[in-house]
Amino acid sequence: MCVSRDKQIYTCFSCHATGNVFTFVMNYHHVDFKTALKMLGDRVGINTSNIHIQNKVSKYDKLYEAYNLSVKYFQNNLSSSEGKVAKEYLKSRNITEEIIKEFEIGLSLDKKDDLTKLLISKNYDLATLNKIGLSSDDHDMYNDRIMFPLQDVSGKVVGFSGRIYKENGQNKYLNTKETEIFKKGEMLYHYSVAREECRIKKSVIIMEGFMDVIRASTIGVRNTVALMGTALTKEQVNHIKRLSSTVILCLDGDSPGVGATLSNGDILEAAGLEVKVLPLPNPEDPDSFILKNGKDRFLGLLENAIHFSDFKFNKMKESVDFRSDEQVAEYIQKVLQETTKIKDEIRVEVILKRLAKEFDIRYNTLEMRFRNLLGERKEKPIMQIKQHKIDTRKDKYVQAMEQVIYFMLNNDFVITEVEREHLVFETEAMRALSSEIIYYYQSHGQINVADFYTYIQDKESLLNLYNEIIAANYVEKTDMDDLILYFKVIKEYAKSQEINRLTNLMKKEVDPLEQAKISDKIRKLRIGE
Ligand code: ATP
Ligand code: MN
Repeated sequence: MCVSRDKQIYTCFSCHATGNVFTFVMNYHHVDFKTALKMLGDRVGINTSNIHIQNKVSKYDKLYEAYNLSVKYFQNNLSSSEGKVAKEYLKSRNITEEIIKEFEIGLSLDKKDDLTKLLISKNYDLATLNKIGLSSDDHDMYNDRIMFPLQDVSGKVVGFSGRIYKENGQNKYLNTKETEIFKKGEMLYHYSVAREECRIKKSVIIMEGFMDVIRASTIGVRNTVALMGTALTKEQVNHIKRLSSTVILCLDGDSPGVGATLSNGDILEAAGLEVKVLPLPNPEDPDSFILKNGKDRFLGLLENAIHFSDFKFNKMKESVDFRSDEQVAEYIQKVLQETTKIKDEIRVEVILKRLAKEFDIRYNTLEMRFRNLLGERKEKPIMQIKQHKIDTRKDKYVQAMEQVIYFMLNNDFVITEVEREHLVFETEAMRALSSEIIYYYQSHGQINVADFYTYIQDKESLLNLYNEIIAANYVEKTDMDDLILYFKVIKEYAKSQEINRLTNLMKKEVDPLEQAKISDKIRKLRIGE
């Protein structure tokens, strides 16, 4: 990726992403413009709270609004007289009023269609409510459950997890189905809150359930996210990478938890993250462990989180029968194999020395075997980076038009010339983009590549074309002589288009007199009158 200091933009040669400082923060942290502005303001000490921004209206806004209304509705239920039993349950699990408020916990009632009715009175239709998982047919999706709002990575509520609180034989949790705004594969509970904390603590802790995250927050541990019982997806890994380069897996202490630690650790390590493990005794989860053992014990374990490789070695060892030479040799081989992934040379030496001592093997023998394995590993081809090829399929007309649009951004006089000459671009997007540039210039008195991004950020088709032009390495500066040549090419194109149009028209024309008229027009165009 390349950052141009004087243009104040970035361009990625691999994925072609380009934009200014705001689009970078928006895309990298998955936040909206307002949040990006605040983050950047905080960084350079500019107070952005007084800046009024008209929020972009997204087609999902109405859906988010439905979720916000539902959160409030569920919260009201919980604090009403109908919420007494649920409150008792929460109290029995040490969920205080403070936690209920912070995590916006609520209650769905056993009334079948209260929420649905409420939302319909607010102009939502049943089809929409069904689509976004708040209703099922004509009744509520959730009945008599404690409701935990689920937020997407930018912090907007996009779903719920409802937990039973009386023994009624139903599934413990009922989660929102996959919808347009609720992508299960991208869901990480507590992500938007964890973002700031991870920066401070320099690590992110991954837990299994949201009850664990909630419990941890009561002892001041907030650099946490929960997987919500799913296998780790590629999207989740990418989101996690943005929080910190060090992850601490703190999954349940039972055997599924250990299995998930092993498989998720491998995935995270392969993604280039430093992986540590905070193993809990079977069968505790972070929630129950903290409740039983208290804050200090948990913080102690956190302080001493072990390397993922050590966790793996311990687990491998558990299944080895040490009376069998074969199994011991196999175990040593596996440990060496794992050790080749470790970059810290001192740790490597410590591991080899320990192994030598434990099994009474000469250090040199182990080291030689280790070097061989390391050699094999290094020979594997590293990932190929796709190079950005300049699109040579574009014909010279399109190239000339895009070049002129790029000139407009970097040479004020070109804007005036394009207007004066009534230059017509080929596509709708090009025409719209050039009008926007002209308009921006007229209302701001100047224009630059970086600021213009923010101006057109809501207009997707313009943004796509703009990105393409910025990424295509066109020339920046021009003068009048140069520009005339480009204009000529573009006008030539417009002319040939017009000739084509007239030729087609003539073919269809039956009246010989009209035909002659058209033919004359074509002739005049050809000789340039
Ligand atoms: P609790 O302490 O309330 O029993 P937990 O955090 O111990 O909850 P687990 O059974 O460990 O819950 O499950 C971890 C996560 O997996 C939960 O937070 C939930 O998101 C998800 N999950 C568990 N059971 C279900 C289910 N039946 N349907 C959907 N998701 C579930
Ligand atoms: Mn639990």
